[in-house]
Amino acid sequence: MKKVYDAYDPQEAYIVKGILESYGIDAEVQDDQLHALVAGVGYTEAVIPTVWIFDNSRYDEAFKILEEYEEKKQSDNEVIWICSSCKEESTEVFTECWNCGKSR
Ligand SMILES: [Zn+2]
Repeated sequence: MKKVYDAYDPQEAYIVKGILESYGIDAEVQDDQLHALVAGVGYTEAVIPTVWIFDNSRYDEAFKILEEYEEKKQSDNEVIWICSSCKEESTEVFTECWNCGKSR
């Protein structure tokens, strides 16, 4: 067993597990139950769900896959700004509102 990922929350851990399995790499999420247990009283930083793979020889492959996943996640989480005029959201690449044309 080898740890390949520290997830932000249990959902993300299972997304990562699903990605790895789609590449034929068997993976397991750990600590998620403990995380759920404290959910009622708020999350503690000490408990982070982690994703592990069974086959250590595929670690490099898993690492590459998750590196790509991280990159994609970052581009999905682009900074957005909200138009002061029409309240539409634009991504950072736009200097003017895509909807009404008001400059940022
Ligand atoms: Zn606008």
